[in-house]
This record gives sequence, C-alpha cells and structure tokens, in this order.
Amino acid sequence: MILKGFEALKSFLSKPKNIVLIGHRNPDGDAMGSTLGLQHYLTKKGHKATVVVPNEYPDFLHWLPGSENTYRFDWQNSQSQKAINASDIIFLLDFNALHRVGFDMQKTLEKYPNDFVMIDHHQQPDDVKYMYSDVEICATCQMVYQFIEMNNDLDLIDEAIATCLYTGIMTDTGSFRFRSTTSKTHRIIADLIEKGAQNDKIHNNVYDANSYGRLLLLGQALSNLQILPAYKTAFITLTEAEKKKFDFQKGDTEGVVNYALSLKGIIFAAIFIEDKEQHIIKISFRSKGDFSVNQFSRNHFNGGGHDNAAGGKFNGSVEEVITTFKELLPTYKNELNRSYEI
Ligand code: 5GP
Ligand code: MN
Repeated sequence: MILKGFEALKSFLSKPKNIVLIGHRNPDGDAMGSTLGLQHYLTKKGHKATVVVPNEYPDFLHWLPGSENTYRFDWQNSQSQKAINASDIIFLLDFNALHRVGFDMQKTLEKYPNDFVMIDHHQQPDDVKYMYSDVEICATCQMVYQFIEMNNDLDLIDEAIATCLYTGIMTDTGSFRFRSTTSKTHRIIADLIEKGAQNDKIHNNVYDANSYGRLLLLGQALSNLQILPAYKTAFITLTEAEKKKFDFQKGDTEGVVNYALSLKGIIFAAIFIEDKEQHIIKISFRSKGDFSVNQFSRNHFNGGGHDNAAGGKFNGSVEEVITTFKELLPTYKNELNRSYEI
C-alpha cells in the first residue's frame, strides 16, 4: 500500500477548489462508479468537481447518478479541455499510468501544470504527487469509500454516492465472488446499502439490461470457444464481422471471458476481440489462483492489470494472436498446472 501526501492534500482541499476527475479509457463500472462517487462527495464538501470521461462507456452504466453531467473527452473535446485547464487539481481514478486514458488525452494530461492525485488498485503505478495505491483492494470504489473514511466523512455518504460505489465494487468483484473480495468489502457493501444503495436495482440495471443482439453475440462467442485441457486454458475469439452481424455495442463483450473461466478445470481464460477501428486485437485475460495474468500480459501483450484480471493488445489478425498465444503456453505449463487446487 502506498499513501503519499495525504495530509498535504487534506489541507489543500480545506478550501473550495476546482477539481477534475478522470477514469481510464473504455470505462468500466469501477472507473465510472469511482469518478462519479468521488465527484458527489467533493461537491458536498464545497468543491466544483467535474468528471471527464475519455471515451464511450456501456449503456448499462448510463443510469449512474451524475452520468448525464460528465464530459466526453473524445467528442466534447473543447469543454473537456476547458474543464481541465480551469482545474486546480486532477484526480486519476482506477488506472495506474497516464497512457491508460488514450493517446490524445494522455498528451493533454502530460502538459497539465498542476498536481495529480491517484487513487488506484492496479500494479506498478506511475509516481504522482498525491497517491493512494493498494493492489490488494478489490475495487477503486472501495478505496474511495476508505478515502472518505480517512477524512472522517462517512456520514456524508448519501444514496447517490452509495449507489456509485456499490456499482464499482460489484462489477470489479464479479458480484463479490473474486478472491479480492474480503470481509471488509462486505462490511463496506452493508454500509452502502444502509446509506441508500438499492442492491437489487443496481444488479438489475447492470446485469439485466441485455439487448437481444448481445445475447446472440454471446452465443457466437461461446460457439467460438476453444479448450486446451493440457494447459487448463480456454479462449474465445470474436471477429469484426461477427460483431457487426450481431449489432455490437460498447460493453457487449464485457464479462464474456468469464464464461471460458467457468468451465470445470479451467484456470486461465482469454478473449481475443478484433477491433478494426484501432487496428488491434483487444485481449482480456482472467485466471484463478496464483497464475498472474498481469505478468503474462505485461510480458507478451503490452498490457497489464491485476493478478487475476488483466487486459492487453496485439497487432495482427485473430489467427496470428491465436498462434502466438498457443506458442506461449508450453512455457507456462507447470505454472498453470500448479496455479489452483480445487
Ligand atoms: P478488461 O479485461 O476487463 O478490459 O480489464 C481487466 C483489467 O485489466 C482492468 O483492471 C483493466 O483496467 C486492466 N487492463 C485492461 N486492458 C489493459 C491494458 O491494455 N493495459 C493495462 N495496463 N491494463 C489493462
Ligand atoms: Mn478497478
């Protein structure tokens, strides 16, 4: 755990400031929940707080309280730049390195003259002036709760804050089932429910908001699944043509990789998704036990994340990424077979 400069930050924030909050590109529930949750809290503390989102995020997160007041850096660029230029400080939430916001926004942030605060749970964080980094914590939203707790302000958590933070903890823990979910997480979740988070509605809004096309895309993904029992590994592919056929929308592939991991005996799962717009194959890795997909992705796929959930990218075709992936597995055979005893 790294906690750096928080007393100084506290005194900096003791007077009203103009604050911008930013999560990572391709925002997930934790990025949106943590930025919006913290925005509501900082607003209550008398600051002007604005969330700038790097790019599009899934429909199933648009209901989050405050979502309608965010700026999108990619298509509301001048408002976003204006907000950034007018700010006294920027909070970076749910990511560990500036490149995670995407190239154009990274360039803007690199020129930023004031200080950054990073609250994040990814490994190997960049060094910024104010840091709260803890790779053991399941979600940045839990860290935002603990940040509010450090300020002795838990009483300020209202329904909007509780809803945002609940959402990020729920999505980053796979609904409270991953190894990172602790008794403390459950205590925090209990408190968030007491403070107004409506758990059934949140689950419904996030998980039961499928379009018919999304289910058909899932069907396609599952029929593309390949299993490599010798490596306790399974992977899924989706081509651009398949995405188009089922009217792919942002967020439609979220969680699909977990179906590969749900197979009995499988402890390492991957999904390779062709992205013609960015000319890459976007990859998600998931694992159970000690096999670090963060390390695997850092070593071979220009990515990173957490021990059991990471992402990466590959320049080439779906066929090429499959070949590369299969060629790597023998090196990890022993590690994969030792990773997780059931
Ligand atoms: P997902 O597979 O859901 O996109 O991402 C899983 C985790 O890995 C998330 O915590 C995400 O922030 C991180 N991640 C995803 N893609 C990348 C990447 O390209 N680089 C790095 N460093 N982390 C990533
Ligand atoms: Mn997260």
